[in-house]
Amino acid sequence: MPGHERRNPGRGWGGPAESCSCPFCGKVEKKRPGVPCNSIKCSECGTALVRHVEGNR
Ligand SMILES: [Zn+2]
Repeated sequence: MPGHERRNPGRGWGGPAESCSCPFCGKVEKKRPGVPCNSIKCSECGTALVRHVEGNR
């Protein structure tokens, strides 16, 4: 059972580790602060990415 596991070393704000994933091919891109996922195009297939939170499968 995990205790106080920090998933964001170096960032103390405690938010979830976010990234963007492609709903078409499944490629995961790193989230950029201030840039919504749906404004980012997948580098593989050009599909608009969707928000992807780690641990939420
Ligand atoms: Zn894709």
